[in-house]
Amino acid sequence: MRENWQERFAETPDVLLGAQRQRTIVPVLDFAVGGNEFVTMAGPCSVETERQLMATAYHVRNAGARVLRGGAFKPRTSPYAFHGLGLEGLKLLAKAREATGLAVVTEVMSECDVEMVAEYADILQIGSRSMENYTLLEVAARSGRPILLKRGMMATIADYLRSAQVLLNNGNPHVILCERGIRTFETAMRNTFDAAGIALLKEVTHLPVIADPSHAAGHRDLVPALARIGVAAGADGLIVEVHPDPDKAWSDGEQSLDFAEFEAMMADLAPWIALREDSGGQRHTAEARALEAVG
Ligand code: PEP
Ligand code: MN
Repeated sequence: MRENWQERFAETPDVLLGAQRQRTIVPVLDFAVGGNEFVTMAGPCSVETERQLMATAYHVRNAGARVLRGGAFKPRTSPYAFHGLGLEGLKLLAKAREATGLAVVTEVMSECDVEMVAEYADILQIGSRSMENYTLLEVAARSGRPILLKRGMMATIADYLRSAQVLLNNGNPHVILCERGIRTFETAMRNTFDAAGIALLKEVTHLPVIADPSHAAGHRDLVPALARIGVAAGADGLIVEVHPDPDKAWSDGEQSLDFAEFEAMMADLAPWIALREDSGGQRHTAEARALEAVG
């Protein structure tokens, strides 16, 4: 018997593909996430200095990225680690957007900061540690900005869909999902990259799904392989950490690519991305069946 996903995820009907024939396409500046174009988001884990951010922004744009990532508010494992530049970081991101034309995605951690972050960012990132903070989700959704909702590191797909449903319930249809690795018994990698989760999310939801190979791997040498797997699993884009000098990064240096590594990864991905675009995005099986049924 074929799994009935509609039934399994019946609690979150609005995120399911059946609820809406068309896939969600999220408009951002002059492009869109979830359409035919594969969208790469890249940049440092944290915004550190103007020099660091600008150099990275120009480099990732020239290598094909559309969105600059960079945290101004950082959720950290250690209470003593760098927690971000805050408003100063947001201003640097806006400056980089102005200089390069890249859109900006940055994390918002507290509902109290939503208004301020939404003033500077084109996409609000909800981090893994905040996925189940429904108060934050509600306020972020109501800002009207597109939301990049990262999967909680301990969240099942059903938990994840519940959080996406909260965003939709609050009147924001522009939700982008992001698989960033989950906790398993494996400790050699920072997380376990759930490629099947990407395939499943593309199969059951109408929302765009992107892959974060950096946080999934935790080691920069694994990032290009996980990026390739993400494309092959059906992702609509990537979010990747890039730093001018990863060994000196203030956060997540171990998993950040340097400029040459990012450029090489993008070149290596090009044929994979071309395959995806040739097939018209991906028409997954449920969609094909639905189209067949209507003749
Ligand atoms: C990040 O993007 O730098 C980050 C903190 O990600 P996550 O919430 O997935 O850990
Ligand atoms: Mn990071």
